[in-house]
Amino acid sequence: MACGGLPRPSLVAETAERGVRPEMNEDQFGPAGMVDALEKIAGRRHVLCSEPDRVAYARDLWPRSTIKARAGKTSARLPCAVVQPANEAEVAEVVRCAEAFEVALIPYGAGSGVCGGALAESPAITVDMKRIRHLEVDKNTHLARIGPGVIGQHLETELERLGLTMGHYPSSLYCSTVGGYLAGRSAGQYSSRYGKIEDMVESLRVVVGGGEVLDTAQCAKQHGVDLLELLVGSEGTLGVITDSLMRLHPLPRHRWYRGIRVPSIEAGAEAMRALLQGGLRPAVVRLYDEIDTLMASKGEEPSESSLLSRLLERAHQSIRSTSPSGQGGGLRALVERTARGLMGRVLGAPMLLSRATTLLPSGCLLIVGFEGDEEAVALESVLAAKWLQRFGEDMGAGPGEHWHSHRMNISYKMSPLMDTGAFSDTMEVSTDWGNLMHLYHTVKNALAPHVLCMAHFSHAYVDGCSIYFTFAGFADCLEETLALYDRTWKAGLTAVASTGASIAHHHGVGKSKSAFTAEDHPGGAPLMRGLSLALDPAGVFNPGKVWPAATLMRGDKS
Ligand SMILES: Cc1cc2nc3c(=O)[nH]c(=O)nc-3n(C[C@H](O)[C@H](O)[C@H](O)COP(=O)(O)OP(=O)(O)OC[C@H]3O[C@@H](n4cnc5c(N)ncnc54)[C@H](O)[C@@H]3O)c2cc1C
Repeated sequence: MACGGLPRPSLVAETAERGVRPEMNEDQFGPAGMVDALEKIAGRRHVLCSEPDRVAYARDLWPRSTIKARAGKTSARLPCAVVQPANEAEVAEVVRCAEAFEVALIPYGAGSGVCGGALAESPAITVDMKRIRHLEVDKNTHLARIGPGVIGQHLETELERLGLTMGHYPSSLYCSTVGGYLAGRSAGQYSSRYGKIEDMVESLRVVVGGGEVLDTAQCAKQHGVDLLELLVGSEGTLGVITDSLMRLHPLPRHRWYRGIRVPSIEAGAEAMRALLQGGLRPAVVRLYDEIDTLMASKGEEPSESSLLSRLLERAHQSIRSTSPSGQGGGLRALVERTARGLMGRVLGAPMLLSRATTLLPSGCLLIVGFEGDEEAVALESVLAAKWLQRFGEDMGAGPGEHWHSHRMNISYKMSPLMDTGAFSDTMEVSTDWGNLMHLYHTVKNALAPHVLCMAHFSHAYVDGCSIYFTFAGFADCLEETLALYDRTWKAGLTAVASTGASIAHHHGVGKSKSAFTAEDHPGGAPLMRGLSLALDPAGVFNPGKVWPAATLMRGDKS
């Protein structure tokens, strides 16, 4: 059974059909002979060298890259070539090719990563994994062999036909791959019930240095050492994931959702903790702070862009509705300037705006949902409803069902916001229950001078919870916007590190947070260096991601 097709099909197909093969020069396309070698491995049709293809694969959805792209700046460095291997054997040959030509190798799923994991910082081959998309389901064991290139939505559609689910529903389900989830330790919206991706994986096959294939199950059996935990979350820095054995569950047939109004964010967090530590396994438990509560009640899953893009759209609409149609360049520029000015005035005073949000009506929305077998849902929901009475007011099924039907209405409105010079982003961090409120207040205070910030608490577990901060800022020109963006992240991550919390819950680390990895894992660098030398002696795998190349003393290949 195979799933789906390649995203960006038109671009890829058109390029191949036109047989575009630009004049090769070493600066852009890597050492002489490399593209020929790749074509021998994957076939000419599956080696992309045209500029549009290389631009398309040169970045992921890291907002910093999007800010630059919206300002008309393409990535500083494009990959030398993009190769689309059909199977594990071809991946192994591509790895040997990268080693022989001494260029970096960047695995690429669907490019929905938000941390710059796909950026090429030195001459590189980008390896698009979406042709490797096998799916073999064992209905008896509830295990499935899944290719790394399978898109999440395609996977769940196939499994649903068999009455099964993997239970992994990230908001990016339509535009991300299983390989990307495993590489970044992804979490779906139902993580409290099914766990994160690392809780769903039984074993992996990974092509490492020299094109060797490492099977974590066999390795554990033969040597008594299971490398699975080290490879999940390695973000392409230790090898290329070519196959996964994943656990499945029966498709839930019943659900129960509720909204609870709690008097404060603290009371809401206590309610979440009581549910999880009391032994219940809600599918969903999400707590919105005051400003995020305002957003959640407006019919859209709060996200990095929804509040501000809606503000902006309104501004554009009202300005345009008063402008004659067929407006000329001068008038259009005036419209843009007015929208920009409005945005600038709103976001240019983040402290004031943050203070204004304290005037919002107090009270936060907590969404709780159970899914599964009818009897189990009935039992758990009765208990949950009883326990939650202690913490707040039951608002009935409405808010929960509302969340459920809008849960995928997210983030795709990023671009209009960025056209005005504004930016937005999210920071997902996690800690234990005892440290949770300290983390929340410390990060909010650190971000307040720079950006407008809101947050929700989701992905709750027995021992702790993650906080998803959403923030937006504005500056007048590209340079200032990038400087503000960098200042904001530095302030935020410094604050997270000061509380001892983790800098990444499910987006990974990539390039954007790598300067803070050493603080997140004190003493981890020598271990990672040893691992990197063992699995990647030539130092080709996605250099500079997760750990700065210099920290691992691997140098860079530029
Ligand atoms: C709108 C939106 C919503 C999002 N919501 C969520 C969410 O709810 N939960 C969540 O966890 N994330 C979310 N993300 C982030 C993103 O979708 C995840 O990080 C996802 O796991 C990336 O998958 P991908 O296939 O797009 O990977 P890519 O972006 O292509 O790659 C991500 C990293 O993994 C590496 N990689 C990819 N494939 C392989 C492979 N086969 N072997 C080795 N390394 C590999 C890449 O080199 C890169 O470092 C969201 C992103 C967006 C844009």
